[in-house]
Amino acid sequence: MNIGVYGGTFNPPHLGHLILAQSAIDALALDRVLLVPAFQSPFKHRSESLPASLRAEMVELAVSDNGKLRGEYYEVERAGVSFTLDTLKHLRMKHPDDTLFLLMGADTFLEFHLWKEPETIAGLAVLAVAERPGYEIDMASHPYGKAARRFSMPLIDISSTDIRRRVRDGLSIQYFVPWAVQVFITSQGLYREDLPAT
Ligand code: ATP
Repeated sequence: MNIGVYGGTFNPPHLGHLILAQSAIDALALDRVLLVPAFQSPFKHRSESLPASLRAEMVELAVSDNGKLRGEYYEVERAGVSFTLDTLKHLRMKHPDDTLFLLMGADTFLEFHLWKEPETIAGLAVLAVAERPGYEIDMASHPYGKAARRFSMPLIDISSTDIRRRVRDGLSIQYFVPWAVQVFITSQGLYREDLPAT
């Protein structure tokens, strides 16, 4: 099988995430995509994040209507700072006969060489990069440009930061996030206040 591994903070999961996953399924002939919420990203401030359990619940809601998408909660269960290196080693052992594709948006790929052991990661999974508005990648000059596969997706200028800001500002997030995620955010009163502007 071809398995996509798609890590992120998912705070909250939004349509950009899901369209990236669906585009990867189509472009790379993936049988499955695992959405892997980080317990704690090495690059994001803890104060910006919701408890991992709430983000995991939203990921579960976001994947619930697509048989090819799954939540993978290895990082949440493990706790501590989440390194993709460790997650991929775990998934490699769990799926020894499958090909792993590490999915990411252009903004993430631009920082990929700063990750823990990027070389090892590139040996464990095929790097697969989607375009994202505002982030140009010059593959020829990127240290991992040759190792990576680009795939196209409709450009979606939505971020979790936007969603959090919209909720704080009292704007609707309908169509920006899956319906079930919207209901969860509203019923739990998430993002209404006390989150620092980012
Ligand atoms: P935040 O605004 O809180 O920083 P985010 O919207 O960037 O969050 P993450 O969960 O940090 O979402 O992103 C996980 C992965 O999804 C990253 O690889 C990121 O590049 C990619 N991604 C997120 N949104 C988009 C989008 N609209 N288009 C393309 N890639 C995206």
